[in-house]
Amino acid sequence: MKFTINEFHKKYPTDDACLDALFVSRYGDIKKCPQCKKETTFNRIKSRKCYCCQFCGFQLHPVANTIFHKSDTPLTSWFYALYLFSTSKNGVSAKELERQLGCTYKTAWRIAKQIRLLFEQNKEVLTKITEIDESYFGGKGGNNKRGRGSENKTPVFGMVERKGIVKAKVTVDTKRKTVMPIIREHVKLGTEVMTDEYLPYRSLAKEGYVHQTIAHGAKEYVRGNVHVNTLEGFWSQLKRSINGTYHAVSPKYLQLYVDEFSYRYNHRSSFEPIFSLLLARVVQLI
Ligand SMILES: [Zn+2]
Repeated sequence: MKFTINEFHKKYPTDDACLDALFVSRYGDIKKCPQCKKETTFNRIKSRKCYCCQFCGFQLHPVANTIFHKSDTPLTSWFYALYLFSTSKNGVSAKELERQLGCTYKTAWRIAKQIRLLFEQNKEVLTKITEIDESYFGGKGGNNKRGRGSENKTPVFGMVERKGIVKAKVTVDTKRKTVMPIIREHVKLGTEVMTDEYLPYRSLAKEGYVHQTIAHGAKEYVRGNVHVNTLEGFWSQLKRSINGTYHAVSPKYLQLYVDEFSYRYNHRSSFEPIFSLLLARVVQLI
């Protein structure tokens, strides 16, 4: 669903408005004081980022231990950065944040890094027809050779449901002993899975999956409903996004970008605006 920039500015015009939103997001409409146990209201203490019980003075700090904690950046800037991340298709670079927020590059970089934590993949398990494949990122040269010959590239291992969600993990290699535990963790046993003929996938039937193979080596790309084109599409979008927005990503940070991109993919038809989902995550990840 759309959340326009005008709606955003109307809803979060000041630091106080942002803090109130965080309070509600974190404590709901809290009625009972955790300390004096009375039915109470919590009043904002001006000049401090906290609210206190009208009877006993017990304090609630909505920002404590969130990604906004111990930051000198105004909440309006944080919220605006969140808004940019939530509406962007391809992510937001630190350079772009620096320009939009009028802060230093260092601050922008830190904000971007913190916001990316909100995109972490959840533990949901795939159960619909699932395509499985890997792709290689970074390094020099355009080859997409698997295993040997791809030493300077970082493998990303992916699983995507048809018309469903994607899971993608940066791995050290694509050997069977590396990828099989990831499949077991993320794809329910008995699920119909589709791969190409790459060796590490050949034991999927033995593992308890209904395994269909497409013979890419024999130039076969679709056979009936057997293909890995959904995942191929995901990889090429992800590569375009990384090249276009971030230019290069070090292996150390690649998982964060993969998570961010997967999150957008998984919420592509969400009714709730991504901004609201991310704001809710800010207080979930404490
Ligand atoms: Zn109280």
